[in-house]
Amino acid sequence: MPKPKIELHVHLEGTVRPALLADIAVGNGMAPPAPSPGRFADLHDFIVTWNATTGCLRTPTDYRIALLAYAEEAAGHGAVHIEPIVDAEPRLGLDGWADVLAACVDAAAEARERYGVSVGLTPQVFRGQDVGYAEEAARIAVRFAGRGVVGFGLSGAEGRHPTLPYARAVALARDGGLPFVPHAGEAAGPEAVREVLAMGAARIRHGVRAVDDPDLVTELVERGIVLDVCPTSNLRLRVADPGRPHPLTLLHHAGVRCSVSTDDPALFDITLSDEYAVAAGLGVDAASAYAAGLAGMLGTDTDRARLVRIGRAAFGGIDVGPAS
Ligand SMILES: [Zn+2]
Repeated sequence: MPKPKIELHVHLEGTVRPALLADIAVGNGMAPPAPSPGRFADLHDFIVTWNATTGCLRTPTDYRIALLAYAEEAAGHGAVHIEPIVDAEPRLGLDGWADVLAACVDAAAEARERYGVSVGLTPQVFRGQDVGYAEEAARIAVRFAGRGVVGFGLSGAEGRHPTLPYARAVALARDGGLPFVPHAGEAAGPEAVREVLAMGAARIRHGVRAVDDPDLVTELVERGIVLDVCPTSNLRLRVADPGRPHPLTLLHHAGVRCSVSTDDPALFDITLSDEYAVAAGLGVDAASAYAAGLAGMLGTDTDRARLVRIGRAAFGGIDVGPAS
């Protein structure tokens, strides 16, 4: 029986295994995508592959199938709570994206019933996207607040595109009850982490390059900010230098709460269990990762209470740290 796990950083579009992705592509009259190479020159290179690979997801049914498939897979690795990301892809159109979110909300409830995993959806926009489109996407996400959508994110190639133009979209989402859970500190350095903290980030996806700034690391510890770390992704995208200690090791030793996730398990050809094994080798055991996941999760109080009970049963005392 695998230890219980909380996965806070996983892109729904990047979870679809090749056989299912090929079925979905063919169903949409498209050729099956070329297999992911699994390794990339940098974040930008990865995003190019990500778009080419996941672009065959077109309909609400595609997303529903993807969500149920990943919830089943993750539950098989011990996941008891996941917070999948759903991108506001322009290929869907805003109305199409709203339909996708509605399908995901329904699938999330179904996944909970079928597989015993709570699912908090965290739709997001991305750097480089049309700002007006992103703001409209935020308004759409807010419609689903309290109905399965629990946060609002921002991704995209840091360094190539600025973050601040999306502040209004972030504010719209937050005012509508969706905390900000951005990607930052992956392709760009500590300044990118400071930037999203100033925008009110509730937790940060990646954030590992904060490790280059001791004052920032101290701030993360003192504020109890959770980083959703994906150690294999960091290596495959060359965010982490394989010749040096992994940032996960350094941040964990410094006292930063680090949850553990796969990021895009199908594109990296990894599983949640693989990622936990990697994290354990880097000094973060399953109990620490669970406690960080619990501290960072955005579900309902009922969900949190359930996760506390599960954590206590599996690991004994669970320290969720100071309230943030
Ligand atoms: Zn990510």
